[in-house]
Amino acid sequence: MEIVMAKTAGFCFGVDKAVKIAYENAKHKNVYTYGPIIHNTQLVDDLSKNGVEVINSLEDIHTIIDGKLIVRSHGVSKDVFINANDKFKEVIDATCPFVKRIHKIVEEYSEKGYIIIVIGNETHPEIEGIIGWTNTKTYIINSKEEALQLELNNNQPVCVVSQTTFNATKFEEMVEIIKKKVYDVIVFNTICSATHNRQNEALQIAKKVKKMIIIGGKHSSNTQKLYEICKSECKKTYHIETINDIDLSEFKADDVIGITAGASTPNNIIEEVIFEMSKIEEENSFEKLLEESLFTIHNGKIVKGTVIDVN
Ligand code: SF4
Repeated sequence: MEIVMAKTAGFCFGVDKAVKIAYENAKHKNVYTYGPIIHNTQLVDDLSKNGVEVINSLEDIHTIIDGKLIVRSHGVSKDVFINANDKFKEVIDATCPFVKRIHKIVEEYSEKGYIIIVIGNETHPEIEGIIGWTNTKTYIINSKEEALQLELNNNQPVCVVSQTTFNATKFEEMVEIIKKKVYDVIVFNTICSATHNRQNEALQIAKKVKKMIIIGGKHSSNTQKLYEICKSECKKTYHIETINDIDLSEFKADDVIGITAGASTPNNIIEEVIFEMSKIEEENSFEKLLEESLFTIHNGKIVKGTVIDVN
């Protein structure tokens, strides 16, 4: 068996930053995140054990809380932000800079009188946050069919942005449809580079392998997109949260398997999957993967790439 491991698998910098902030603050009293800090149940549970709790709404909070509220990497609406500052002694903004950029764009262009079109999933917290920065007519569309159904006024300029984790090809197709409907369109491809690179790599791997494993939370948008992209090239694509979701007996000695993971998948979960898969066959041993420098043991932990020890 051969395992082709994506270099881009695992935490992106935005998630990494938010998770670090949450753990750094775990030692303080009354620390909360607004919604789950990332879409990964195992990590959110671990944070809860360390004292960081999730709140999903500010509505039931009627007194000022002597504690900290961490705004997750997906960001929040302007109103939630203002409200949070009124209700918590400290608000720590862990919104990813890529998402913040979208807030700025839609705020600026809605003030200029543009209609805003957000391409993405309307139930995703990132989109809920984005639309909370517009103050004009705003549409959210998620498919070519929805783009075709849009009824736009040709006299009003339109500004288009995308969810950071949207499929790049689908975004371009939808933009083309919008451009045919309205004369004055400004388009910001706000799919983040971390997502773009991850999707590209996943697609290339999926083209070459017999089976593809995508590791990540069931509610993680970017993981779902990776699944869709890989499935289009590799029929036997599996979306798993942990190694427990996979039936190892489905994998054969002559399989070539690709593995990637969403931006909110912790390394220890990825490591566990690789470790268990590598046990399927002797000659594809864990040691062989290490020899090939795909992974290195450092301080008793498995890490990607080669570690240069400076001590
Ligand atoms: Fe930021 Fe992109 Fe990561 Fe989302 S996927 S947190 S936008 S870097």
